[in-house]
Amino acid sequence: MNTTTSTANSVFHCTKVFSRNFCKFTQIRSNNINLNLFMAAEDKSFKYVILGGGVSAGYAARQFTKEGVKPGELAIISKEAVAPYERPALSKAYLFPESPARLPGFHTCVGSGGERQLPEWYTEKGIELLLETEIVEADLASKSLTSAAGATIKYDSLIIATGSTVIRLSDFGVQGADAKNIFYLREIDDADKLNETIKGKKGGKAVIVGGGYIGLELGAVLKLNDLDVTMVYPEPWCMPRLFTSGIAAFYEGYYKNKGIQIVKGTVATGFDSNENGEVKAVKLKDGRVLDADIVVVGVGGRPLVSLFKGQVEEAKGGIKTDASFKTDVPNVYAVGDVATFPMKLYNELRRVEHVDHARKSAEQAVKALKASEEGKTIDEYDYLPYFYSRSFNLSWQFYGDNVGDTVLFGDNDPTSSDPKFGTYWIKDGKVVGAFLENGTPEENKAIAKVARLQPPVENVDQLAKEGLTFASKF
Ligand SMILES: Cc1cc2nc3c(=O)[nH]c(=O)nc-3n(C[C@H](O)[C@H](O)[C@H](O)COP(=O)(O)OP(=O)(O)OC[C@H]3O[C@@H](n4cnc5c(N)ncnc54)[C@H](O)[C@@H]3O)c2cc1C
Repeated sequence: MNTTTSTANSVFHCTKVFSRNFCKFTQIRSNNINLNLFMAAEDKSFKYVILGGGVSAGYAARQFTKEGVKPGELAIISKEAVAPYERPALSKAYLFPESPARLPGFHTCVGSGGERQLPEWYTEKGIELLLETEIVEADLASKSLTSAAGATIKYDSLIIATGSTVIRLSDFGVQGADAKNIFYLREIDDADKLNETIKGKKGGKAVIVGGGYIGLELGAVLKLNDLDVTMVYPEPWCMPRLFTSGIAAFYEGYYKNKGIQIVKGTVATGFDSNENGEVKAVKLKDGRVLDADIVVVGVGGRPLVSLFKGQVEEAKGGIKTDASFKTDVPNVYAVGDVATFPMKLYNELRRVEHVDHARKSAEQAVKALKASEEGKTIDEYDYLPYFYSRSFNLSWQFYGDNVGDTVLFGDNDPTSSDPKFGTYWIKDGKVVGAFLENGTPEENKAIAKVARLQPPVENVDQLAKEGLTFASKF
């Protein structure tokens, strides 16, 4: 909503850009001096505040309603303009050329088979959604947050769910990295801008910088959108943090068969742009130059913890928590991508940037918070790492830990009509991790069970021969 009122010397624009509750007035004075005045920014106070409106926030809200929350007690603050949604959709069906996923279709908690929490759901439950509200200052000692519009939001208990932000090539001073049509993907706004450009560049050339799961998923959807796709990454194979060379060989072969070019062992060192400032080429360290109408960069993320620097204990780049996601600051919890928590199964502190953990950590934190109000504690978080990705007709799942020796099984020929293969990771004579491409729900359950139970392996050759049959015995 925009309203404009005139006075003799000035014009005031009240643009309700921050939320229903925070109003930013911009005063444009007749002498052409622009002044930003923050007025009518309403201060608020809640028993519980979730800072961040992503995956964890949606699942935390649901858990609050299960545990019991009174109208007006809980607020979710998000700089995004929409209610919590299942973020993984952004690099998958959201970018499909045909029947793309759109909100409200993928609001949380549909990603795990739960109820789709529309904005009305929050209203009905008396949960305040403070959207388009960026928090720019957090004071954990006085339990207050300050929004970009200058409003103060007080809380009794805080759940930090700020997620991650993308790493930008401009962070490393890569020349020309701020050219138009170079995209990063984290929020729905990013996906909308990318979608808009894709529509205008059909038949053009796209370069994907980065060979992680975001790069692989985006490579696939850009290809589906009729772009000529080249992927560039420095490592010897894609997804090197998880994939073995045997796993990667399948995906790289499959992508090549789909017509995607893969350039490995080099990095983007600069970008050329045309007279409109639009990217037109990617310069590589090895001297090659790739024509590009669109560039999408997926070189990783970093947890958004800077608001809390020096106020809360950190570990491994995130906010350190206990097994209930409680930080060292009373009544402050951290969940999802930002939490560095004790991974009971492996007896070490870890941070996990995946959606399954975002959901489960949020539920755990709310259960613990509500239990603590009655002087109770809950069982420790006992998480089995689970990651997945989907692209083209492919779909893989991974459970457990990818450490130790590996055993590849099944058909990983990228030209097969129905490839199905997997890998076990074996450490200290036990299976500790399992990966499966193209598994049925039962087969995926079986590999999850193996990763959790960590059965001993007597004979590695036998394990390779048995493949999935081994997992289905448990
Ligand atoms: C494109 C994409 C695809 C993905 N695909 C997969 C996948 O296939 N499988 C998988 O396991 N994982 C996937 N992930 C990772 C997964 O989505 C994240 O691990 C998960 O979203 C983390 O949840 P979160 O709640 O911690 O953070 P997020 O969901 O990122 O939510 C954080 C929220 O906090 C808000 N915020 C941050 N700072 C502020 C502030 N100062 N003020 C107000 N609001 C703020 C953000 O705007 C955002 O709304 C994907 C991620 C992306 C970006």
